[in-house]
Amino acid sequence: TVARLRPFGSTIFAEMTELAVRHDAVNLGQGFPDTDGPASMLEVARTAIAEGHNQYPPGRGVPALRRAVADDRARRYGTRYDPDTEVLVTVGATEAISATLLGLVEPGAEVVLIEPYYDSYAAAVALAGAQRRTARLVPDGDRFVLDLDSLRSAITPKTRMLVINSPHNPTGSVLSRDELAAIAELAREHDLLVLADEVYEHLVYDGVEHVSISTLPGMRERTIVVSSAAKTFNVTGWKIGWACAPAPLLNAVLTAKQFMTFVGGGPFQPAVAQAIDTELEWVHGMRDGLADKRLRLSDALRDTGFAVSSTAGGYFVCADVRPLGIDDGLTLCREMPARLGVAAVPVSAFVDHPDEWKHLVRFTFSKRDETIDEGARRLRAGV
Ligand code: PMP
Ligand code: GLN
Repeated sequence: TVARLRPFGSTIFAEMTELAVRHDAVNLGQGFPDTDGPASMLEVARTAIAEGHNQYPPGRGVPALRRAVADDRARRYGTRYDPDTEVLVTVGATEAISATLLGLVEPGAEVVLIEPYYDSYAAAVALAGAQRRTARLVPDGDRFVLDLDSLRSAITPKTRMLVINSPHNPTGSVLSRDELAAIAELAREHDLLVLADEVYEHLVYDGVEHVSISTLPGMRERTIVVSSAAKTFNVTGWKIGWACAPAPLLNAVLTAKQFMTFVGGGPFQPAVAQAIDTELEWVHGMRDGLADKRLRLSDALRDTGFAVSSTAGGYFVCADVRPLGIDDGLTLCREMPARLGVAAVPVSAFVDHPDEWKHLVRFTFSKRDETIDEGARRLRAGV
């Protein structure tokens, strides 16, 4: 392995899912749903395959999907993107993230991540030969908020890009309009690009609002918004994602993307387009279901003795293991599949400063109620 990728080894999700499979554990680690997306969407994909839409789609993605993404963002956020020049279909959000870093950040330039951060960000920064610096979230009561001072001090004259993620994996926090305005002000002041990972944009609970930083003054022009069908339509295996940005930025993303995969997911693209156009009600129902599952899992973890922080959005709850007399979440996560028959993911896998985060373990509630209940039963029996 080349030196710049050596620190990354295999991902924590692969490691924990492999342990879960080996020990037949309830997998509350890797975030993926165990139910299917809207039936009409699955049908469009089946039809597309049956009707021979099985060759390379256009480089930027099928026109219907680019149009659906642009219309959807105009409707829900009021931001307009030209489907021909400002929307790019990618192989999941993961590719959009890597292509954004590869296409827009020079080797040696700095990228600011906010700890804890989704694991692919650091690896993508390394792929680009760039350097990462980290700001952080901090606990505030039972939730996590941005430590703005840490963000200010992470920015240097070499900073080119800031990566944000809201709703957040792994903490379940949703950045408030005020937090986003403060981030936007720093981005404008230091002339930074912002990569906004919004893969959980629909999954906000209790009336909390997801605000896209691209909607704030002076931000559309410097923001690359990334999202994905994976978590909106329960199709993590389809790997259909997208990036939206002004044409000059998006062209840079495309330049990188075309040599990573060229294109992907031909027959799935029209299906996702159709779902974006017609299945928003389905998404709302799924979201309301997740809101309940979040409480179901949080209550069960509290009953078991974990201290659980509140989740405003996304797929995950974070549980503090210290009340159980344990101080290291990574060790617990490595033991749990065999010992308790449950898999989870240590938050220390998402940080540069594991000592500050090692007491936290991430559990997903993106599962059927029976799955959550069985996981909870095993935890109660064993911890
Ligand atoms: N960003 C975040 C915050 C995620 O949790 C995930 C996993 N869904 C991704 C990006 C990757 O998304 P995709 O599966 O569409 O590549
Ligand atoms: N996004 C999901 C998670 O955070 C799965 C990611 C993956 O397996 N690469 O668990």
